[in-house]
Amino acid sequence: MKPAGAIPLGYAADDDFMLRIGGERVDALIAAAGDTPLFVYDAALLAARVARLRAAMPGQLAIHYAVKANPYPPLVAWMAALVDGLDVASAGELHRALDSGIGAGRISFAGPGKRDRELEAAIVAGTTLNLESAGEADRALMIADRLGRVPRLAVRVNPDFDLRGSGMRMGGGAKPFGIDAAEVPALIRRLIAAGADWQGLHIFAGSQALDAAAIAETQAATVALAASIAEAVGAVPPLVNLGGGFGIAYFPGDVPLAVEQVGAALGETLAARAPILAESAFAIELGRWLVGEAGVYLTRIVDRKTSHGQVFLVTDGGLHHQLAASGNFGTVVRRNYPIAVANRFGRAVEEEVSVVGCLCTPLDRLGDQVGLPRADVGDVVALFMAGAYGASASPAAFLGHPPAIEMLVGA
Ligand SMILES: *Cc1c(COP(=O)(O)O)cnc(C)c1O
Repeated sequence: MKPAGAIPLGYAADDDFMLRIGGERVDALIAAAGDTPLFVYDAALLAARVARLRAAMPGQLAIHYAVKANPYPPLVAWMAALVDGLDVASAGELHRALDSGIGAGRISFAGPGKRDRELEAAIVAGTTLNLESAGEADRALMIADRLGRVPRLAVRVNPDFDLRGSGMRMGGGAKPFGIDAAEVPALIRRLIAAGADWQGLHIFAGSQALDAAAIAETQAATVALAASIAEAVGAVPPLVNLGGGFGIAYFPGDVPLAVEQVGAALGETLAARAPILAESAFAIELGRWLVGEAGVYLTRIVDRKTSHGQVFLVTDGGLHHQLAASGNFGTVVRRNYPIAVANRFGRAVEEEVSVVGCLCTPLDRLGDQVGLPRADVGDVVALFMAGAYGASASPAAFLGHPPAIEMLVGA
C-alpha cells in the first residue's frame, strides 16, 4: 500500500458515512449537479481561509487573490468580496475579475506575452499592468498615448534570489518573468518621465513553499530589494506586491505552512523597513493557499476489475479534469493526493486499490495502490485539494469527454 496525503480539515460525514461538503451531502450535490464528475468548492472554507490569513498577517497588508488558481466565476465573485485585490494573468481573467464586481483599480495584470489588445483592455479598464519587459513597457506607453489615457503601470522585478524550497521557481537567474532587478530603476524613471501613473513594484519569487522560514526570508529580501530600487529611482513606490509562494500540504509527510509564523516575521520586516518605503502599501498575492483545500473533485466508479491481483477502480473522471492529482502537473515523482470513498467517508480501510480515470493512457491514475474501504460500481471517489489548478489547469479536450461540472456551495 502507498500512503496518500492527509485529508484537509473541515470535512466530515453524516452517520451513514456520506461526506458533506459546504454543509451539503455528496449524494444531494451530485443530484443537484445532474452528473459526475463534479468539482465542489466550499464557500465557508474559503472565507475561513481568508479570515485566518488576515488574522495572521500584519494589519496593513493587502491580500490579493491570484485568479489563475481557480477562475470559476462564482468563486472569483465570492473571493472578490473577501480580498483586497485580484491578480490576473490574461485578458480573459481580467474580464472575469471585472465581472466579479471588484473595481478595476483593485485588479493587477501580470504575465509574460501580453498582446496589444490585452494591454489595451487593461488600460481602458484602468487596471494596473505589471510590466514584464522593457518592450512591453514601450507598447503599453504607445497604446496609452494613442488612447489618450494615463496608464497605471507597475514593474515586475526578476529578483536575483529564489524562494527556497519552492515547488516552482519563478525568480533568480535568467527568467521569462519580470525585468532583471538591475535594469528596473532606469525603466521606472522612463515610465514616470513619460507621464505614466507608476503604481509600484511586483516581486514574485516562487510558489508552493511549506517552509515558513524560507518564505519569511524571501519576503525580507523582497522588501530590501524594493527599498534599494526605490532609492535608485528616487521615488516612493505606491504599492509593493511581495508575491506569494504559500504552499499547501498535498502529500504524505507534508507539514502545513505555519502562516502565523510568516505573518509575525513579516510584521517585523515591515516595521524595520527603510524610510523610503514608509508611505508604501504592501500586498501579497496568493492562489493555491487560499482556494486549494476548499475544493473536492467527485468522480463515480464505472468499473471495478482485477489485473494480476491488483484491484482497479475505474472512474468517470481523470486527468483531463484533475491533472495535478495524476502527478503530471509540475511534479517529478508521482505521489497520492488525499483520496476517499465519498459515500464511505470515515470507514476503515479494507483493501488496496488503484483508482484510475477513463482516459486511455497509463498516465491517468488518480490514486496509486491506496488503502480505501471496499468500493464498487456506482460509489463515488472524492479527491481532495482540488480547489486550485484543477478544472482550468487540466487538458479538458483530451479524449473528448465532457468537461467537469463546477459548483460553489454555501455562498
Ligand atoms: C501563479 C501566480 C500566483 C499564484 O501562485 P500560487 O502558487 O497559486 O499562490 C501569484 N502571482 C503570480 C504572478 C503568479 O504567476
